Amino acid sequence: MTTETTTTVSPVELTSYELYVDGSWIPSHSGQTYDTTNPFDGTPWARVPEGDDVDVDRAVAAATAAQEGEWGSFTGFERATLMRRLATILERDAGELAQLETRDNGKLIRETSAQTKALAQWLNYFAGIADKLEGEVIPSDRSNFLIYTRHEPVGVVAAIVPWNSPLSLLMWKLAPLWAAGCTVVVKPSGYTPVTALELAKRVHEAGFPAGVFNVLTSSGSSVGKALVAHHGVKQVAFTGSPEVGVKIAQSAAEHFARSLLELGGKSAQIVFADADLDEAVNGLIAGIFAASGQTCVAGSRLIVHRSIYDELLKRLAARVRTIKLGDPLAPETEMGPLANQAQLATVSGFVDRAVSDGASVLVGGKSDPERGGLFYQPTILTDVTPEMEVAQLEIFGPVLSTMVFDDEAEAIRMANATVFGLAAGVWTTDIRKGHRVAHAVRAGNVWVNSYRVVAPNVPFGGSGASGWGRESGIDSVKEYTVTKAIWIELSGETRDPFRLG
Ligand code: NAD
Repeated sequence: MTTETTTTVSPVELTSYELYVDGSWIPSHSGQTYDTTNPFDGTPWARVPEGDDVDVDRAVAAATAAQEGEWGSFTGFERATLMRRLATILERDAGELAQLETRDNGKLIRETSAQTKALAQWLNYFAGIADKLEGEVIPSDRSNFLIYTRHEPVGVVAAIVPWNSPLSLLMWKLAPLWAAGCTVVVKPSGYTPVTALELAKRVHEAGFPAGVFNVLTSSGSSVGKALVAHHGVKQVAFTGSPEVGVKIAQSAAEHFARSLLELGGKSAQIVFADADLDEAVNGLIAGIFAASGQTCVAGSRLIVHRSIYDELLKRLAARVRTIKLGDPLAPETEMGPLANQAQLATVSGFVDRAVSDGASVLVGGKSDPERGGLFYQPTILTDVTPEMEVAQLEIFGPVLSTMVFDDEAEAIRMANATVFGLAAGVWTTDIRKGHRVAHAVRAGNVWVNSYRVVAPNVPFGGSGASGWGRESGIDSVKEYTVTKAIWIELSGETRDPFRLG
């Protein structure tokens, strides 16, 4: 990211965008812009507005007006129709959106293609819920009352997303919140602002009323802060780091807004002695080296039974040494660059400190500057102990910390020995053990003999420093509703005004 004043590329070479507010494209209030950079070749490629507090006011006002106006009057059937129309448009444009996402964050095209294809799936699934948000009739202990509930939209949502999977993580919020009847102001990461703006073009084309979807871009955190603190925002849906998540929850609580937090992780992959090692190697690679380890569910701690440690590590290291690093747009590439310079520095720092703390590098262990982009080699660390920083803190890079266990209870203790609780993998051919360990591990998502699989109808989320609330799954719509109880007096008789009940 650079500001306009430091930009060296002429504006004509860049794709330019404006903010999307109240159904219109507008320049930012300040008139400032900044450029977003392709992490593979380091070139700025798109110019986006630098929003400010005035833009936040405009967007929240638009979202509030839509909530209280046309969108608020729509039935679930009408919202579902619009959502399905958008799903069709996104299916049509999935390839183009994948290219843009890869240019913005350097993620493999094979990964972003799968993610953009899935956007329609999320919309269609939640469109199917929009017209089924049924309240209940509650049996009364008094014969003169009819009591029923309604699930009403919580109001304007602030959706704040990170740079690693910008469109997917945004859709995980949009689909349920629209199904619930809410409106939204979106703040993408400063590093990856483009695809939210591209999504706005398609939301517009689908015919959503003005103000239902608004996008504010900004290179720093000021717009996100102002948005969360805005009294018109009734709920924040945030995906990002635990450090920012805490600040967001505090700021939202100041004005009694709710918050849904999807934060980081330090997920364990437990491999038992009876595991199919070839399958496990494949799943371990998927867990930590896919997406260059820049995924919240990265299986960054490998916990292996002592009897198979050497053999597993030998097979794993052999495969990791053949991982093809390169242009994320090339279909044969298996690992792309990290998404930004700051992330590269973070990953290097973690590995360097681990080595000083006594860990050994089995594979990788350094950046790869001769490739040109922000590459860090896929890295396996041995001689890691559970209390080391690399076994406790999220790195968000292609670094696997490996440790040994002797029995099932120890494996579970080690898996649960961090502040996080997002995901875990269990590798065993013993079905009883698979279930037992899946129950005992503190994680919102456990895969047995698999890793990193998600679906719109399956709840996703964590506990502890991994956040609270659930995205996806039928109940996630309720994250965006408030339940109202309605009492209808049926007899017409006057009651004692000084008695409760
Ligand atoms: P981040 O927390 O730095 O930023 C996330 C977003 O918050 C960005 O849009 C940023 O501009 C905004 N922001 C920053 N400070 C803010 C503030 N004070 N108020 C309001 N908004 C603010 O995270 P990141 O570096 O972009 O992403 C990486 C993190 O995201 C990792 O910790 C990762 O584990 C987490 N993540 C979690 C999930 C999940 O579903 N649990 C998924 C992907 C990423």
